[in-house]
Amino acid sequence: MMDFHCHLDLFPDPNAIIERAIEDGTYILSVTTTPKAFPGTKRLAKSAPRVRTALGLHPQVAADRFDELGLFELMITETDYVGEIGLDGSKEFAASFDIQVKSFRRILDCCKEHGGKVLSIHSRSAAKAVMDELEVRGDGSTPILHWFTGTSAELDRAVEMDCWFSVGPAMLKSKKGVSTTRRIPKNRLLIETDGPFAKVMGRNLKPEDANLAVPYLSEIWEMPTGAVINQLRTNLQQIGKIAIR
Ligand code: MN
Repeated sequence: MMDFHCHLDLFPDPNAIIERAIEDGTYILSVTTTPKAFPGTKRLAKSAPRVRTALGLHPQVAADRFDELGLFELMITETDYVGEIGLDGSKEFAASFDIQVKSFRRILDCCKEHGGKVLSIHSRSAAKAVMDELEVRGDGSTPILHWFTGTSAELDRAVEMDCWFSVGPAMLKSKKGVSTTRRIPKNRLLIETDGPFAKVMGRNLKPEDANLAVPYLSEIWEMPTGAVINQLRTNLQQIGKIAIR
């Protein structure tokens, strides 16, 4: 049905992934990690009308790719979707945090200047900082917090700020992921895989695996799987309308 955050260009055989998605009728938000990767990744999807390519600069490479922000600003008019962007506050990326913030601010300002975009956002160990930035510079954009791992208070703040969320089977395997998902309003949730990085049972996830989230949602929402799928379809239509408005 949908995979609202995956890295199409990073699969060993992206064309096979696209072919399968076309066959299944899967809607995909294909995120990129660097502006340079955007044109080629967009080209991959040229025969796939249900795939949208997002322009991104991943916080984990923000320091190395800071000089690609000019390119980001040039290409912003080519898409309604931006991602993967955000901040990573984990120890491993502490040294680049200041530059991540600089980069995130320029991206948010650029989106705002162009009337706002739908944003797929990474916020690992940085939920508060991400929301502080969105509060100041997020006008007009619709943030989707992908694989949210913040506290419940942070989650409630994000809900209050009209954020959306994308959750996937790798996240739902954990108790914390389930309790987070329980607090997300039903009408602000999309499903994703974060493939090919995310794994379940040692296997790298592909877009069709986003459906593994459905039985979890059925249990969490106490709804039959058919009703879960209907809700997710409604949400997808809604975000599609927001993106092109
Ligand atoms: Mn990702």
